[in-house]
Amino acid sequence: MINFKVVDLEITEINQGESKLSFINNIIVTTVQLMPKSVVGFFSKKYIAGDTIDKAVQCVKDLNEKGIFATMDVLGESITQKDEAIEAKNKCLEVLDTIVKNKLNANLSLKPTQMGLNIDEEFAYNQIKELVEKAKGINNFVRIDMEDSPFTDKTINLFKRLKNDFNNVGLVLQAYLKRTTSDVITLNKLGTNYRLCKGIYIEPATIAYKDKQGIRENYLKSLELMFKNGNYVGIATHDEYLINEAYKMIKEMNISKDKFEFQMLLGVREDLRDRINGDGYKIRIYVPFGKDWYPYSIRRLKENPQIAGHIFKNIFSFEK
Ligand SMILES: Cc1cc2nc3c(=O)[nH]c(=O)nc-3n(C[C@H](O)[C@H](O)[C@H](O)COP(=O)(O)OP(=O)(O)OC[C@H]3O[C@@H](n4cnc5c(N)ncnc54)[C@H](O)[C@@H]3O)c2cc1C
Repeated sequence: MINFKVVDLEITEINQGESKLSFINNIIVTTVQLMPKSVVGFFSKKYIAGDTIDKAVQCVKDLNEKGIFATMDVLGESITQKDEAIEAKNKCLEVLDTIVKNKLNANLSLKPTQMGLNIDEEFAYNQIKELVEKAKGINNFVRIDMEDSPFTDKTINLFKRLKNDFNNVGLVLQAYLKRTTSDVITLNKLGTNYRLCKGIYIEPATIAYKDKQGIRENYLKSLELMFKNGNYVGIATHDEYLINEAYKMIKEMNISKDKFEFQMLLGVREDLRDRINGDGYKIRIYVPFGKDWYPYSIRRLKENPQIAGHIFKNIFSFEK
């Protein structure tokens, strides 16, 4: 039998100290993955615009009204069949058309494995090229998300090939990867439009920093390198420390406002989002939508033990 009082107590502890996080977090994280989909769906609502493109359009319009930009993402990843990857690409084409039709201040983000990167690299390249070409025709932009480390080199190669022919394409780099600063040095030579995030996948300590401060340091080191070469950077984080340090760096390095934007995920730290917007900096929100919401939701819930804790309690309360 589960002791609910104990669960409650430990969840409170999670919020009090980083040192106590990992053990209980691991339990919660493992348990979240065993939850019924309906419960995960209930708690994920704040992170997802909805299951249809119309709901996503409404969400983007609401953000745009506040002066906030968006990047739209059709949920889906790790596709193993070409016809599914083509269907995903067609949905992305529809997003680009919808942006124009509704005059949205938005661009497109996509996951390479959703376009077929783990089926066939050439096929995925052609799929993404079609999207970048389409976006170019409507004066829009495509951001290639970064997935887990088996895809890092393939994604960078894909991006480099696209960059030969297009300027309206950008790449994501992850500060938790030890290789990132050297990737920045290489990619700076191409004049890359970056999104810099911490990284969300579980990676081994041989290739990734695992501690909060190590990741923060690599984030700031990478950001400085990106800025030094005059690249455009999407500073994607909800970490107030990093946002404050980025503010300082922007002032000290005298970076002009057309060289960066802040980026956040839908439903996360809206207080910070509004502060950045109020400070007169450009901010873009990642707006995911679609029927394949499950893996994305699990990742978001893993990041937020408080919500995961609610789920945990809810599930076991069914037994009462
Ligand atoms: C626009 C955008 C695009 C991204 N694209 C990618 C990508 O392509 N590849 C990739 O690997 N990762 C991507 N990420 C995810 C990123 O790597 C991090 O996992 C995520 O942003 C959390 O890291 P953080 O910098 O916000 O810092 P953290 O230290 O994790 O979070 C800082 C604070 O934000 C709040 N917070 C964070 N997450 C949540 C949540 N889910 N619910 C509630 N509060 C929360 C908490 O208060 C937390 O203390 C993206 C993130 C953003 C913002």
